[in-house]
Amino acid sequence: MSQSSYSPHPERYQHSVGYRFCGKSGLKLPQISLGLWHNFGDVDDAAEAEKMIQFAFDNGITHFDLANNYGTPAGSAETNFGKILKKNFASHRDEMVISTKAGHEMWPGPYGDGGSRKYLISSLHQSLKRMNLDYVDIFYSHRYDPNTPLEETMGALSDMVKQGKALYIGLSKYPEDKAREAFRILREKGTPCLIYQDRYNIFSRNIENSHFPLLKEHGIGFIAFSPLAQGILTEKYLHGIPEHSRAALSYGFLQKSQITPEVLAKVEELNLMAQRRGQTMAQMALAWCLRTPDVNSVIIGASSVNQIQENIDALKNISFTDDELWRIGELGA
Ligand code: NDP
Repeated sequence: MSQSSYSPHPERYQHSVGYRFCGKSGLKLPQISLGLWHNFGDVDDAAEAEKMIQFAFDNGITHFDLANNYGTPAGSAETNFGKILKKNFASHRDEMVISTKAGHEMWPGPYGDGGSRKYLISSLHQSLKRMNLDYVDIFYSHRYDPNTPLEETMGALSDMVKQGKALYIGLSKYPEDKAREAFRILREKGTPCLIYQDRYNIFSRNIENSHFPLLKEHGIGFIAFSPLAQGILTEKYLHGIPEHSRAALSYGFLQKSQITPEVLAKVEELNLMAQRRGQTMAQMALAWCLRTPDVNSVIIGASSVNQIQENIDALKNISFTDDELWRIGELGA
């Protein structure tokens, strides 16, 4: 990639998406963050990917969420993000919070998956190389590994912070009791957990009663992934499965079988409510996540700049009446 003529919008922080503190830390996260799980791999539209990162940054979206295995093929989202950074954002690294993760299968053999020290540290080194970075802001254990002692996983994360390869630690998809134990170990090691990441949306709210109180107790931030249920909580599947949508892709993680008539009937109802609120379905779904201070940021995925624009506009109305909340609770159950 050659050098870009892009220069970030000078008023990106005056007219930004707004920020919330991440738990009890001093780190502010944009209310909307951008995730690179889909649409940033080698199989995707590279020009649109670059435009999406530029557009997000121009609107004050400072947090970009990655993982070792993102993109098709795995690793390509980090490589492509690294190229975009080098070309467009060389002097803006300190304005960004970049996260990556390790925990799912990444390379063959016994050391490319799980929560071992061997895997996590090797993987972070690979991620830094792919993104051409000296450090990431947040390094996550991507999921709980029942076959590795928590002491070992937390020790590896903690050492990465002590070596300056990550500024903060995050955990993702840990059962409540394991998260509690992991938080204790990390505190004892002097590298407290900054943030917890899990699925949270209108159709998926089981962590509300388990993890939210735990995170509050420990002053740890929460960031929601798949706030649009991978696109189900938008209008796009109401009239079939559009070509190029995530559900239509052979390599996408959304299965057609997840889009059942029952789910669509609920989305129809929710969509009517969104219209009454003067929002699109996607906007209401994001606003619903951000209605509570328990959520510090939502990580959206996007396949176009237009989607990011639409999603940012969700922030114009994130309050709900009790009736709306009750009805959404009924439909989401
Ligand atoms: P979303 O629920 O936001 O789904 C994103 C998809 O929804 C887009 O790719 C697009 O699909 C569709 N979409 C987005 N905006 C609109 C809109 N306005 N109108 C219509 N369709 C829209 O999030 P993801 O599931 O992508 O997850 C977000 C991020 O969370 C990931 O990139 C990753 O960083 C993180 N994550 C972390 C996980 C973990 O284990 N820790 C697991 C999963 C995600 P289409 O391509 O069809 O246009």
